[in-house]
Amino acid sequence: MQRKEFIKLSSSLSFYTAMQKIEAFGQDMTDLRSTPKMPVVFIGHGNPMNAILDNTFSRTWKTLGKELPHPKAILCISAHWLTRGSFVTTNAHPKTIHDFGGFPDDLFRQQYPAQGAVNFANDTIKAIKEPQIHGTEEWGLDHGTWSVLKPMYPMADIPVFQLSIDYYQPLQYHFDLGQQLQFLRTKGVLIIASGNVVHNLQKVKWEGGDYDWAHTFDEFVKNSIDAHQYNELINYQKLGSIASLAHPSNDHYIPLLYAIGLSDKNDKHQFFNNQFDLASVSMKSVIFSPDLYEL
Ligand code: ZN
Repeated sequence: MQRKEFIKLSSSLSFYTAMQKIEAFGQDMTDLRSTPKMPVVFIGHGNPMNAILDNTFSRTWKTLGKELPHPKAILCISAHWLTRGSFVTTNAHPKTIHDFGGFPDDLFRQQYPAQGAVNFANDTIKAIKEPQIHGTEEWGLDHGTWSVLKPMYPMADIPVFQLSIDYYQPLQYHFDLGQQLQFLRTKGVLIIASGNVVHNLQKVKWEGGDYDWAHTFDEFVKNSIDAHQYNELINYQKLGSIASLAHPSNDHYIPLLYAIGLSDKNDKHQFFNNQFDLASVSMKSVIFSPDLYEL
């Protein structure tokens, strides 16, 4: 507000009312203040049981929660929320969704009672003009989100919102939308894209083992990220049968496209959880950030 306008305003309204207005404006803007740039993390979530098991994957997530800068809010882009159109959750109290079957009762009893991040969801809707982002209260936190957040932030004391995956769009759309979401990184929002670098549940080997095609695809993703060859990743289906073995459907791959879209040339990157689970699920994960972390 210009000084002149302020003087005019305080002469026409009572000074007290004007000050109240300025204070309210300040409160609305709290969430929009700039912060140091937050990391973006692509996390291979794998088996929902990782939420409650103490294993090498969940232990790294625990460390991650302690090492990363403390966020004001978390945006999660999960492989398990597929829609027509792009949506963000605008609930103040998102429910914990148990979107799986055949697991022990203990997993169904789990709750992740984080508050929603309504201000950030609304800021996202306002900031992105094309494509239009819609708000909805009909989703909550699916297991792609809470199974990872539970070990990372067990207190559930950071507000969380989700962005859906418009499953009717070409792969380029997701990379491009990721780029548009970059502004959230300097507003204190930690963005987690939750999928898997290789994800073929039909080829799971309960006894463990290895597939050449799975390792080849895993290496392809790593090498493309190392070389910043993002077009290779967007057009991954050009790899043919290796691509369709690694991903019979695109749902667990698409979050990776958001993560690379959200990264910029000043980010460093580091991989973690580089193991496979059940032979056909790669848990490889990657952080894009100005800083490196001890994991
Ligand atoms: Zn999944």
